[in-house]
Amino acid sequence: MNRSDFPILSRTVYGKPLVYLDNAATTQKPQCVIDAIAEEYCSVNANVHRGVHFLSTQATELHEAARERVRTFINATSTTEIIFTRGTTESLNLMASSYGDAFLKEGDEVIVTEMEHHSNIVPWQMLRERKGIILKAVPIADDGSLDLEKLETLFTPRTRLLSVCHVSNVLGTMNPIRQLADIAHAHNAHLLVDAAQSVPHFPVDVQALGCDFLAFSGHKVYGPTGIGVLYGREALLDMMPPYQGGGEMIARVTFERTTYERLPFKFEAGTPDYVGTHALAVALDYLSAIGMEHIHEHEQDLTAYAMQRLAEIPDLQLYGTTPTKDAVCAFNINGIHHLDLGTLLDRLGIAIRTGHHCAQPLMARYGVEGMCRASFALYNTREEIDALVAAILRVRKMFV
Ligand code: PMP
Repeated sequence: MNRSDFPILSRTVYGKPLVYLDNAATTQKPQCVIDAIAEEYCSVNANVHRGVHFLSTQATELHEAARERVRTFINATSTTEIIFTRGTTESLNLMASSYGDAFLKEGDEVIVTEMEHHSNIVPWQMLRERKGIILKAVPIADDGSLDLEKLETLFTPRTRLLSVCHVSNVLGTMNPIRQLADIAHAHNAHLLVDAAQSVPHFPVDVQALGCDFLAFSGHKVYGPTGIGVLYGREALLDMMPPYQGGGEMIARVTFERTTYERLPFKFEAGTPDYVGTHALAVALDYLSAIGMEHIHEHEQDLTAYAMQRLAEIPDLQLYGTTPTKDAVCAFNINGIHHLDLGTLLDRLGIAIRTGHHCAQPLMARYGVEGMCRASFALYNTREEIDALVAAILRVRKMFV
């Protein structure tokens, strides 16, 4: 890995070197991903599937090769289990809609956690409005870990699905997915994993995790925006109805009756983002060449270092202090509004995120309106964390 693989990292903001610590929101792109997009538009572009001409065949091959690349990256058993979506949000909405239609009746229960992103809460609430399902949330302890004892008590014979983030986008908590899969399955429920914040950071193997469904976004894994993945076990996906109707997802259409395509196309209505899928595959190749284990080791070092350095700052409150924590540090400083801190750090060239992080129930859990969040990627360095800490101390002086 070389920082120079990422052209944007050499730019300045307000005349200062860019320190980009907003990677949980989106990651920067290596040159190979940017090139893949330009090259495909320059020399291959044609709509995929059904085309008989040369370019269409080539574009289709790249698109389907990308599906195979995703399959190997998360170790799914078959490409029929890899559905391309616009991102984690669409994957989770697909689940609420299609899984909801196939498996959930009025009074059935879905369990989420207090640390979920809105995209793993709101679609279930919308389903609750439509169908009268029951939505429950597992509480978390002060350190940001899941209360597993309490979780066990939430299951009833009506519980169908446990839907949890692999890693919290605010607390960095790494949830014990294998254990959660065993708990869910022991209660005859399925497990859906929001892996938006795990797939970019460490090896994710859907078979080893034992999950039934898993969602992630391309743009958080050094790929382009607008592309994402839903993995699902084939036997379950087979039982689920299509999510949207249109081209690509049908076998035969008459006005009397329409039959649907086989997996995974049944869930992919319309022209797919075939340039995005190819560029995502290039991003995954890039990560595999570095090694996900290596990336994890580096980011674990950054996280531990950041936690230690941030704790040195007077009046700083850290959120999410579990030992199993990855790549995210959320904090507030007494007496400084998170928005003010973020704005002033920005003037010093440091990009962090402030606000509710699409996790308002979690903010309520900690009794705050918002937090500051620094989040790390493979290209970040200890020096950048030192720069963050120095900048926070400088801003703090303006307030005390
Ligand atoms: N879940 C988690 C844990 C996330 O961090 C995010 C993005 N912040 C999402 C879901 C939604 O991802 P996207 O906006 O790419 O659909």
